[in-house]
Amino acid sequence: MRIGFIGLGNMGAPMARNLAKAGHEVTGFDVAGVTVEGVATADSAAAAAEGAEAVITMLPDGQILRAVYDQIVPAGTAGACFIDCSTVDVDSARHAAAQAEAAGLLAVDAPVSGGIGGAEAGTLTFMAGGSEAAFAAAEPLFDIMGQKAVHCGPAGNGQAAKICNNMILGVTMIATCEAFALADKLGLDRQKMFDVVSTSSGYSWTMNAYCPAPGVGPKSPADNDYTPGFAAELMLKDLRLAQVAAETVDADTPMGTAAAALYRLFVEDEDGLGRDFSAMLPRFEARGRG
Ligand code: NAD
Repeated sequence: MRIGFIGLGNMGAPMARNLAKAGHEVTGFDVAGVTVEGVATADSAAAAAEGAEAVITMLPDGQILRAVYDQIVPAGTAGACFIDCSTVDVDSARHAAAQAEAAGLLAVDAPVSGGIGGAEAGTLTFMAGGSEAAFAAAEPLFDIMGQKAVHCGPAGNGQAAKICNNMILGVTMIATCEAFALADKLGLDRQKMFDVVSTSSGYSWTMNAYCPAPGVGPKSPADNDYTPGFAAELMLKDLRLAQVAAETVDADTPMGTAAAALYRLFVEDEDGLGRDFSAMLPRFEARGRG
């Protein structure tokens, strides 16, 4: 299959490489001039999309996605499948899908979970929104880049699933970190805390699989001085997207709102920028209630 791939950053480059390795003819474009082994380089986003049966975008945000779709939709071949894997706001995802469909293209929003490691290993999870026909066209490519794809409903529902998942993730990470910091002050050993909580009703992915306490639980960014992993600023981006969505549909999300405010403080006013999102634990450790 001929595939255009736009946005060859931390995630896009390994995803494009895996498609090329699987035997597809991939042409990529990135404004930063990135090149990827096995992937031909186009001069523009439109040139990467021209003649392609599938066009994948992996871009920083909704505003950039809209600008890129203005360039690539007119260049698309009728019936081609446009797959956006970026994490963006639900409105931008629905806008991009409507624009593509009006031009006779299939459209899927398919944000991913699994991070850079998952992109490299081809083990991402895709959460997809779009028509049955669009999902069916994209599925063989999801199978190469990932290990699971869930069709969540019409356009935008992939992004809805992603931001709801990550709102839970942000809230749960904060809860896990503040509980560790409280346990420290109560004189509870961290390993004992892990042994109890990881097998009790407070268990969670953040405790059991990504424990924020160094030397406790499976290996995680905490064991590497909180080098990301999943950076605090990316967590903040996703929590903000959840807040924008909640405002749009008038949903009450008090914990999501609190998590967004705390990650904003951590990233913008404190030392969270460039650290893993689990570095909330040393933040709490260093503080009292005041
Ligand atoms: P990144 O910043 O490394 O890559 C984005 C790439 O897009 C950059 O190389 C940039 O030059 C390029 N780009 C920007 N504007 C462009 C344009 N107009 N035309 C062509 N290329 C353009 O980001 P990333 O970590 O690869 O993340 C990409 C998306 O995936 C984001 O939406 C992010 O939220 C999401 N995501 C990231 C992770 C992660 O762990 N990094 C995990 C899940 C989802």
